[in-house]
Amino acid sequence: MRHFPVALPATFIAACFALSGCSPAEQSATEPTSTATQASFEADNHWRVETPTIDEHSFANSNQVRTPHLHLSLAVDFNAKVLSGYVEFELEYLEANTDTLILDTEMLTIARTEAYTNGEWAHTEFNLGERDVILGTPLSVSLPPGAEKVRVHYSSSPEATGLDWVAPEGTAGGKHPFLYSQSQPHYARTWIPIQDTPTERLTFSAELRTPPELIGLMGANNPPNPERTGVYQFESRQKIPSYLMAIAVGDLAFHALNERMAIYAEPSVLESAVAEFGYTTDMMNVTEELFGPFAWDRYDQLVLPPSFPFGGMENPQLAFLTPTVIAGDQSLVSLIAHELAHSWSGNLVTNATWRDLWLNEGFTSYVENRIMEAVYGKERALMERMLDAQSLDAALPSLSERQQVLHIELAQRDPDSSFTAVPYTKAQQFLFFLEDRFGRDTFDAFVRQYFADFAFQSLTTEQFQDYMERELVLPNPGRVSREEIMQWLYAPGLPNNSPRPQVAAFQRVAEAQERWFAGETIDISAWSIHERLYFLSNLPEDVSQNQLARMDREFNLTHTKNNSVLSNWLVIAIQHDYQPAMPRVEEMLISMGRLAYILSVYRALAATPEGLEQARLIYAKAKPSYHVLTRDQVEDVLGL
Ligand SMILES: [Zn+2]
Repeated sequence: MRHFPVALPATFIAACFALSGCSPAEQSATEPTSTATQASFEADNHWRVETPTIDEHSFANSNQVRTPHLHLSLAVDFNAKVLSGYVEFELEYLEANTDTLILDTEMLTIARTEAYTNGEWAHTEFNLGERDVILGTPLSVSLPPGAEKVRVHYSSSPEATGLDWVAPEGTAGGKHPFLYSQSQPHYARTWIPIQDTPTERLTFSAELRTPPELIGLMGANNPPNPERTGVYQFESRQKIPSYLMAIAVGDLAFHALNERMAIYAEPSVLESAVAEFGYTTDMMNVTEELFGPFAWDRYDQLVLPPSFPFGGMENPQLAFLTPTVIAGDQSLVSLIAHELAHSWSGNLVTNATWRDLWLNEGFTSYVENRIMEAVYGKERALMERMLDAQSLDAALPSLSERQQVLHIELAQRDPDSSFTAVPYTKAQQFLFFLEDRFGRDTFDAFVRQYFADFAFQSLTTEQFQDYMERELVLPNPGRVSREEIMQWLYAPGLPNNSPRPQVAAFQRVAEAQERWFAGETIDISAWSIHERLYFLSNLPEDVSQNQLARMDREFNLTHTKNNSVLSNWLVIAIQHDYQPAMPRVEEMLISMGRLAYILSVYRALAATPEGLEQARLIYAKAKPSYHVLTRDQVEDVLGL
C-alpha cells in the first residue's frame, strides 16, 4: 500500500485511528524502547530475538485448523450497499480433534452455517463472541467429527470499513455506481468471515453477481476483456494472505498492454491512464531481470474513483490505483513501481504479522527505487530517495519512540497505526545501508534468493534476521556489526550511518533558489517535478506575499495539474495566508479523498481558529464522497 506521497512535507498518516481513539501513549516521547531486548540478545550471542509468531490482530485458531482454500459466492446489491451470499472453506487439521473453526468478522450478519461431512452438507451451530473495538467479533463454527468443509451464509453491513460504495456522482462517468474493497490490514473481515491474518495463505475461487451493465473484478487471474454478463467467475491459483482479498465493480473499459498485462479504468479515464501507466511493461522487465521471475498469472492495474484513500493497493494480479497520479507527464509513477514491486515483496514474501510490516513496505520501497533507477535513470531515483528522506525527517519528531522502531510493538493497538513513514522509508534506508556495505552485486543476489526461498510464505522479523545472518552476514564477514543491525531493527530514530545520497540536481536547485530570492530570474522550464518540489520544500520561513505571488506566476502553482505539487503548494499558501490560492483549497479537498494529499491541507487549515472553521465547512460538503477511513482521519484532525 502507498499511504504517503513521494514528495514533501510530512504527509504521513497520523498515528491516531478513530476506531480505537488516540491513546495518550501514542503521543508520548518517553515510551520504553527495545533496548532491554537488545541487551539480552547480545548476552545470548545469537542474532535472533526469540518470540513466538503470534498475530495479535486475529481471533483465528489457525494453529489448530487451517483454511487452505475458500470459495466465495456473492451478490452485489448497490441499492442496499450489501454483499450477500456464502463463503466455503476447505479445512486442514493441525490438531486432529479440533471441534471449532474460529473466523474473524466485523459488522457481518451471519445467517447460518453448514458443515460438509461424508459427502453431505448439514446444518451446524455457530456462535458470535464478544466484539473487540479493534479486532471485531470472533465467529465460532462447530465442526462435527470428520468435517471437511464449512460454509457460512452471511451479508455485509452498508457501513463495512473494507468496502467503498461510490455513488455515480463520485465517478468519472457520473452515471454508474462503483464498488471497491480495501482489506489491508484487517478489513477483509468486514466483507468475508475469514481467518484474517497474514500468517496464513489460501487459494480461492469466486462467483460474483453484479448489475449486468457493470464489470466485476477480483484480485485474481481476471480473464482479459470480460463481457458484461452480470456473472463473473474468478480463480487465484497462487496462495495469498487474507489482506489481499479484493473486489471491484464498476463501468470499466479494458486496454491490453501485452498478453499478461492490462489497464482497467472508467471509459473516460482509460486513454490518459494508458498514456501514464503504459511503461509498466518496462518496469516489469527490469524487475524480473533484477529480482527474479514474476510469480503470478497476470498483472493488471485498475484505476479507482478519486475517493480511494491511498495511492495504491497491491491487490494480487490487479493493483488498485488512485486517479490522482495521472499527471500527464509520468512524474508520479514511482507509485506504479511501488505497487508492481509488491508482486515480489509483500504478495510473494509476506510479513507474518503487522509488527513485521517493514518487511513488506521497506523491501517494496527499496525495489521501487531500483525500478525507477533502471527505467528513469539514477538522478531521478536519487531525487525520489532524497524527497522521501526529507519526509521521514519531518515525520519522525511527531511519532512516539515506539512508532519509530521497525519491529514495532502493536499489542492492543490498531494495526493501521503502523503505516507511518517508518516501515517505508526508514526500512528502505536500512536496505540501502546494507547495499552500500555489501556491494550491489552481493546484495542483489541476496534479495533475489530471499524472494525465491520465501516465495508464497510469511515470515517474521526474527526469521528474516536468521536468514540474513546465514545468507548474507556470515558469508561476507566484516561488513556490518551485530550492533548496527540491532540498532536499525529495534531502536527508535535514524542511526548515524543512515545513507544520505548527494543529489547534484538539488544542489543546483538550492543555488538557483538563492538567486531567485535575490531577485534574479531563473529558468525553470527544464526542471522536473522533483526539482520543483525540492524548491517548495526548502522555502525560507519569512517568504513574503509578493514572493508567493511571483512564485505562483512563474511556477504555475495554484493551477497546476500535478496533485503532489498542488497539495504542497496549498499547505504553503494556507500557512502564509496567500489568498489567491484559497478558492483552489476547497475545490481540491472536495475533488479527491487521497489521504496523502488532503490531510496535510486540512492540518494546515486547522492550525488557526478561522482556518479550522473553514475546514469544517469544507469537510461537511466533501464528507459524502469520502471513504470511511478518510473520514476517520479528517475528523481526527478537525476535532469532530
Ligand atoms: Zn506498499
